[in-house]
Formats: sequence, structure tokens, C-alpha cells
Amino acid sequence: MSEKWPGAEYARRIQAGELAYQHCDRCGEAIFFPRVLCPACGSTELSWRTSGGRGTVYSATTIYSRNRDPYTVALVDLDEGVRLMTRIEDATPGEPPIGSTVEVRPVEIDGEPATVARLQGGGTNG
Ligand SMILES: [Zn+2]
Repeated sequence: MSEKWPGAEYARRIQAGELAYQHCDRCGEAIFFPRVLCPACGSTELSWRTSGGRGTVYSATTIYSRNRDPYTVALVDLDEGVRLMTRIEDATPGEPPIGSTVEVRPVEIDGEPATVARLQGGGTNG
């Protein structure tokens, strides 16, 4: 039953402060979220790499909910070629920072591996 599920290794790396993703040693595909098989070629020859955390916002949306402040969730394309979904903690609600450069870092939220991003300069703050 318990194959070598990569989610556990991913969680361990996030806890250690590494923004981990996988790299296919056969075809070179960068892979996120962690999985057993390369989605491009089906190879199981996957190795772990650590992203520098720099990326660009591909799309973003503000989430409004009753019991908490609005927050922004985005799809971010990391420089290493993987796309991940993350919360952007300093985005202005209602102003999706599409195309902005962000710095993504690993965090734990309620014991689960997660990521948060911060906008990097070049914004409207001068
Ligand atoms: Zn592959």
C-alpha cells in the first residue's frame, strides 16, 4: 500500500526550509506537485531539487470569505520551470499582481507543508 509516496519527502523538505520540486532525470521536465511518475514521459527516475524561490505571477485572484480578511492566491511560475499555487501575503485585495516578481518560501500551516509569497520591488510602492 505505501509506495514511496513523494508527498512525505516533500513535507520533510518543506519543514527543513527547502522549496522542493522534482526533476525528471530522463526528459528534464521540472515537476510540481510531487508525484511518483514524470507527467511528461512516465519515468520514475525523479530527483529532488530546491528552488531559489524566485518566480513570476501567472494568475491571481482575491479570496473573500466571511470570517477572515481577504487574501490573494496565485499561480506562480518559478524560474526553475514549475508552476505552483501559493498565497501572496502582501498583495492588495482586488488588485491581482499578475506579472509581478515574487519570492516564494516554504512554510507550515496547521502542520501541513505550504508556501507563501511576497511581492518583490517594482510594484506601486515606489
Ligand atoms: Zn520525464
